[in-house]
Amino acid sequence: MSALPEYIINCPYCNESNEILIEPCDGQVQDYIEDCQICCRPIHLIITSHNHDIYVQVKSEDET
Ligand SMILES: [Zn+2]
Repeated sequence: MSALPEYIINCPYCNESNEILIEPCDGQVQDYIEDCQICCRPIHLIITSHNHDIYVQVKSEDET
């Protein structure tokens, strides 16, 4: 296996792009908070992977 895949997300607060590293673990949902690299507000990430495809959902803290 090579380097972890990088993924670009857009911050739901300031709309700037953030580069995140995703550790794929197939069939599992990863749900965590990552602070925006620009505005430092907490971005709620929900990552699902399936057959090497990675899906990233980005939510603000206000959304549930
Ligand atoms: Zn931001």
